[in-house]
Amino acid sequence: MKWRWILVLYFGWLNTQLYGVTVLLDPGHGGSDTGAKMFYSYVDKHGRKRNLHVLEKDLSLIFAKKIQERLKKQGVMVHLSRSYDHEISLDARAELAQKLKADLFISIHMNASTNRTSRGFETFYLDNHNDVAIKKVEDIENVGLTGDQLIIKQIMTDLIVERTVKASKLLAQSVHGSIKKKTNKSFHIKDRGIKPGLFYVLALAKRPGILLEVSFLSNPKELKKVLTAEFQEAYAKAVAEGVISYLRN
Ligand SMILES: [Zn+2]
Repeated sequence: MKWRWILVLYFGWLNTQLYGVTVLLDPGHGGSDTGAKMFYSYVDKHGRKRNLHVLEKDLSLIFAKKIQERLKKQGVMVHLSRSYDHEISLDARAELAQKLKADLFISIHMNASTNRTSRGFETFYLDNHNDVAIKKVEDIENVGLTGDQLIIKQIMTDLIVERTVKASKLLAQSVHGSIKKKTNKSFHIKDRGIKPGLFYVLALAKRPGILLEVSFLSNPKELKKVLTAEFQEAYAKAVAEGVISYLRN
């Protein structure tokens, strides 16, 4: 009986640590900016062939809402940068993070490649690097910025990187580790690792942040998996647990 009360008090204390924490989840793209798009063909229960148009902007929102649900249950205050399908600039997303005084910023995306065998999940945190392969992902996710705007933001990024890199990396490790534990074995989604990346949406948000690439829509096997409720739930659970474990430590 005594032990039961000790456990109740212990878990109660753990949860109070999470109250007052605000997380901003950012479903990538939206509106006319669809992100990656793919056709998915399947045979329905009546034996008819169906074609589904899968858009990154829709899936990123589905995942964000599921992660939000999980985190809210733990007492964390969670906002979405968009809760329906509409266009929102990288600046507006970042401004929202400032306005909400969010403690963490998590952007959610789906990967795509012209190579249909590319596969796996990866986690980016804001940092400088010289990797050509990463540059390709950045080009896609930083779309909408040009010329002077880009230079100004690059300078600003350097200052923000310095201030947030340690926390962002720890958050990336916690979330990525949790995704690996929960989805790597059960769903055979390859671990592409934790990588530094110059994502302006993370820099502009000015707080510890990560960008998740859930998996490759261009890979037929992965596309099929990400459309299942089982994978979506498992992934959302893993991200939420990774965030909670980061916050508690
Ligand atoms: Zn994207």
